[in-house]
Amino acid sequence: MSAVIMEGAPVRDALSITQKERAERLTALGHTPCLAAVLAGDDPASQVYVRNKKRACERLGIRALERRLPGDVTQEDLEKELDALGRDPEVDGILLQLPLPKHLDARRAFLHIPPDKDADGLTAAQAGTLIAGGEGVRPCTPRGIIKMLDFYGVPLKGKNAVVIGRSAIVGKPMAMMLLERDCTVTVCHSRTRDLKKMTLEAEILVAAVGKPRFVTEDMVAPGAAVVDVGINRTPDGLMGDVDFASVAPKASFITPVPGGVGLLTVAMLMENCLDLAERKLG
Ligand code: NAP
Repeated sequence: MSAVIMEGAPVRDALSITQKERAERLTALGHTPCLAAVLAGDDPASQVYVRNKKRACERLGIRALERRLPGDVTQEDLEKELDALGRDPEVDGILLQLPLPKHLDARRAFLHIPPDKDADGLTAAQAGTLIAGGEGVRPCTPRGIIKMLDFYGVPLKGKNAVVIGRSAIVGKPMAMMLLERDCTVTVCHSRTRDLKKMTLEAEILVAAVGKPRFVTEDMVAPGAAVVDVGINRTPDGLMGDVDFASVAPKASFITPVPGGVGLLTVAMLMENCLDLAERKLG
């Protein structure tokens, strides 16, 4: 068996046609959609992510604002910045780039992003809509993964899905979104006993661990669809959480790193920002 490689670029490109039209329509109505990124400190990976997000905005005709704060910014000043963006009528979406410097409290900071400007879907109010049901902003990475699976025609209904990782950004919302799509979902984490036993049950396997080549061939059932969320910087370059070379021949579908999920995370940020701008305009 040789897996279909689920590249992110075709999905992103297909989405960007409509996204560009939506941005143009809003601009024609007198409001150019606007995304504000807040970056505290000088973490090199975060700088790359913010730059990529800014470029994506520019490609689509979304206005990109960037607020760079020093690494020693106080919690109070960070919150003031978020409050100011929250009040700014030009701003439709706000993203707070994570991770924050260690002395800052992300959970408290998120309280200063109005839910109707939460472009990442990470405020408690937006995250709550995933549990309560109904309309809400979905976190970009899991939203992108669902788009990816749909684009490549991976059936979800009734499938056994295993998510490795339970972070608020990826693992937990991923599990909820797979549940929304009628998967039977198991969430694994560092305290899971016999992880391999769990992953071998997966027809859909999502790895969001943050450990290079963590998922090996012996952990994957033949024919599984494998989604690699990991972005690990190693001396050998950027690496996913899945050992692509050994797993790909066994899987039915697999995402590459780089060029897979990461591209869609950015695309979904654009989608969320446009959704927010359109909701505002009514
Ligand atoms: P995180 O907050 O560090 O969470 C990692 C999760 O993996 C935790 O739930 C942890 O369990 C679990 N874990 C760690 N060791 C494990 C083990 N030996 N067995 C089973 N589970 C284990 O990371 P994250 O923010 O979710 O990100 C995960 C990866 O995805 C990172 O490489 C990150 O860079 C990448 N990422 C990529 C994108 C993208 O766009 N492609 C977006 C976001 C993140 P505990 O909860 O028990 O500690």
